[in-house]
Amino acid sequence: MNRQFKHLKDIIFGTLYFLCLPFNEGIRAILLYHSINDKDTFQNQMLYLKKNFRIVLLKDLQKEITKDKIKTNILSLTFDDVEKSIYKNALPILKDLGLKATFFIAPNWLGKNIDTPFKGRKIVNIQEVKEIFSLGHEIGAHTMNHPKLTEIPLAEARKEIFQSKSYLENLIGSEIVSFAYPYGAFDERIQNLLKEAGFYYGVTTKEALLKDKDIDWFELPRIGIDEKIGPFQFKGKISKALEIYEFLRGR
Ligand SMILES: [Zn+2]
Repeated sequence: MNRQFKHLKDIIFGTLYFLCLPFNEGIRAILLYHSINDKDTFQNQMLYLKKNFRIVLLKDLQKEITKDKIKTNILSLTFDDVEKSIYKNALPILKDLGLKATFFIAPNWLGKNIDTPFKGRKIVNIQEVKEIFSLGHEIGAHTMNHPKLTEIPLAEARKEIFQSKSYLENLIGSEIVSFAYPYGAFDERIQNLLKEAGFYYGVTTKEALLKDKDIDWFELPRIGIDEKIGPFQFKGKISKALEIYEFLRGR
């Protein structure tokens, strides 16, 4: 994305964000991060979220939304694959601010250098996953090998889903209830496997806020945050401005 376009997006979102301010109550959103290299930007984002949202673990989201009667803004933070930059840069900031997040792990990627989908990413190791969990964060499953589940035989998809759950449960000694579809790819058969395996949540990469009612817990949208995003685009994406922006784009 070139700089001018990024700047323009920030202006559009900034304008929409301020127009939407009166309607920004009862916002429910899940954020998705892949890497954190700019600590200052991430810290500013977290400070904004802490001030404006109740931040809960994904595994508690259903309970928190159901019991909320006063239209609190509720948000869950998620990190996919969990490369070292997240461990190194995001974890200390989350700790400082007392924020908890959900980390989606593909066990066969642990401790490795992964070339896809983003070039040259070093993934956290087994010890680091245990440490993340011991800090009070949630560990979620992301298959064993990170395949596109809709493009492999169903029997293999089943193995990827069931094995990642039991592997991670053995690793941390606690139940795993959240699942992230690699590349956001899923269909009804995959959703049924998740239910059969005992998951409560399936998160996608569809960019949207959660609906006000009739939420499908196995098709949860997530708002992807590129760490170089401008401050207004950040605030705008986690507000009703996102819906207007997507509408204007003709989605
Ligand atoms: Zn992934």
